[in-house]
Amino acid sequence: MSKENRNWENIKPGTKAVWSGETEPFFEGATQVPIVQSVTYGYKNVDEWFDIAIGKKKGHIYSRNTNPTVDVFEEKVRVLENADAATSFATGMAAISNTLFTLLSPGERVVSIKDSYGGTSKLFLEFLPRFNVGVKLCETTDHDEIEKEVAKGCKLLYLETPTNPTLKVMDLERLITAAKKVGAIVVVDNTFATPINQKPLEFGADLVIHSATKFLGGHSDAMGGVVCGKEDLVKSIFHFREINGATLDANSAYMLIRGIKTLELRVRQQNENALRLAEFLEAHPQIEKVFYPGLESHLNHNIAKKQMTGFGGVMAFSLKGGFENVKTMLNNLEFAHLAASLGSVSTLIGPPKVTSHVELSEVERKQLGIPEGLVRCSIGIENFEDIKTDFEFALSKI
Ligand SMILES: *Cc1c(COP(=O)(O)O)cnc(C)c1O
Repeated sequence: MSKENRNWENIKPGTKAVWSGETEPFFEGATQVPIVQSVTYGYKNVDEWFDIAIGKKKGHIYSRNTNPTVDVFEEKVRVLENADAATSFATGMAAISNTLFTLLSPGERVVSIKDSYGGTSKLFLEFLPRFNVGVKLCETTDHDEIEKEVAKGCKLLYLETPTNPTLKVMDLERLITAAKKVGAIVVVDNTFATPINQKPLEFGADLVIHSATKFLGGHSDAMGGVVCGKEDLVKSIFHFREINGATLDANSAYMLIRGIKTLELRVRQQNENALRLAEFLEAHPQIEKVFYPGLESHLNHNIAKKQMTGFGGVMAFSLKGGFENVKTMLNNLEFAHLAASLGSVSTLIGPPKVTSHVELSEVERKQLGIPEGLVRCSIGIENFEDIKTDFEFALSKI
């Protein structure tokens, strides 16, 4: 949980991503952030040790608690989200579970949505109820229902927008206003949007969460998670993490730092690629429906336009004729990994039916509005002409 004194207010996000957290001279004048591969830290004398231990002097004690490389990663996310404080975790799920288990106590109630990330839904349905936390999951885009449930009283409103896999979008300003009326803490999973496209703290959210494994790292080669926002809340979550040990490793932190430097460039290219591909697919005769918030046909396009500055790199589409056609198409793509996850420089594609929503029955998927022929696609930074040729060819094989 570090914080520099520099004021980043008038600095653009691409510059922030490169420079924030990196303004101090590093070991031996290194220009790049060193990977501090040290579990423990030594001191000149006992007095210095004592001053660092009680927080009077800046420094580190033990890498489960803090580490200089990890600090730089946290600072970059803090600055990009315009947050007061940030703390990091080994994975996105560690960030989410640490947040929920820190802020919710037995007898309290959390309101959220049915379309949360699979792991988050498991926490809501399987783990939190065991600790006598009341959980109400609303229809994701039913703003009236969410407002009504929040008004009944809750400790926490947990949102995620856009959602997985059909890219539903919730009106952050409206729902955060409802939560403030009952004094609820608002947490937003901003993984799909990234701070380049959406800043929930500006709409009054208390905390923002990222799976850094996705767009922040951006190369599908390191895992991590981060929570940023109000300092007192971040501090209490950090304190729980110090004890339960879901700490981000220095090596992974370095990979995430290296990745995040190009976040703005990548996301800009991904926004553009995704929008162009969505438009191309929407006009294609083999395609039944495209789910992308940047399309005017999208259910929540107006909300997305209001609160996002770009529509992101993830989309979903369904093919006419069902799952056999999905197989044919996916098997004929050249520049796309058939793989789970998202936010990488390379295009990743796969059907929710066998990835994120494999545990559900056909009926349950239908209830969530997930067609059997649905394909989720995270567009990479490849050149659009090649992506289009690739998709055109794969679709021609059906
Ligand atoms: C992947 C993901 C997570 C979980 O992150 P991990 O790093 O895999 O633990 C949480 N929320 C969203 C929206 C995600 O896409």
